[in-house]
Amino acid sequence: MGSIFQKIIDREIPATIVYEDDEALAFKDINAAAPLHVLVIPKRPIVSLGAMSADDAQLVGHCLFVCKQVADAAGFSDFRVVTNSGEGAGQSVFHLHFHVLAGRPLKWPPG
Ligand code: AMP
Repeated sequence: MGSIFQKIIDREIPATIVYEDDEALAFKDINAAAPLHVLVIPKRPIVSLGAMSADDAQLVGHCLFVCKQVADAAGFSDFRVVTNSGEGAGQSVFHLHFHVLAGRPLKWPPG
């Protein structure tokens, strides 16, 4: 059974899609933590960054480039990209995703 993000890729559930190409999809987070909060995912399902293999490196790099394009398109030069890998790190959806956050002061470390 696919994750909720697979259902978004397959258009089985709605999402506000802001970018799409053959390899990646970007859509607004349903529970925005910042004025810009977009999730960038590879269409090919990878469980997490911790589960990626060397074969996934090009695709993951592409997703990071999409993160930059999403920030650019929204007009933000300063932004944060986060991925939670594993339950203990806060991962709740087990299809690799990068959070792109911007539009408010972002403290470091995130806690
Ligand atoms: P994480 O906790 O890092 O796995 O992040 C999962 C993110 O997915 C959370 O920020 C959720 O708000 C978001 N999310 C869960 N379901 C949906 C959905 N149907 N559409 C958009 N974002 C979602």
